[in-house]
Amino acid sequence: MKKEMTCIVCPIGCQMTVEEKADGTYDVTGNTCKRGPKYAVAEMTNPTRVIPTTVVIRNAMLPRLPVKTAEPIPKGKIFEAMEAINKVSIDAPVKTGDVVIKDLLGLGIDVVSTRTMDKC
Ligand code: SF4
Repeated sequence: MKKEMTCIVCPIGCQMTVEEKADGTYDVTGNTCKRGPKYAVAEMTNPTRVIPTTVVIRNAMLPRLPVKTAEPIPKGKIFEAMEAINKVSIDAPVKTGDVVIKDLLGLGIDVVSTRTMDKC
């Protein structure tokens, strides 16, 4: 199987071609650096994404707190993850890096705050 993809590891965005060989390994062309093939093979075998989103926060200067998954999660779990994250609301104060959801969906990955918000 052959697939065209854009590397999203850095802003250059190399256009790569990934081809699965008979032995189950992959040939990657079009990359400028060696991070490209690593990303390409991960996309072919287990695509993952960091989810940046927000949760409701009470008693803060803004109504929503920016959060993200501390690590990339499997793409197939994104919908389920958003449902779980959307159910959460927390109280200020919160610091950047604080865990907002521990062990999201049992994936062993936390959702963390990406902003400090004081109580007001
Ligand atoms: S292959 Fe390297 S240079 Fe090209 S977009 Fe990916 S990380 Fe950037």
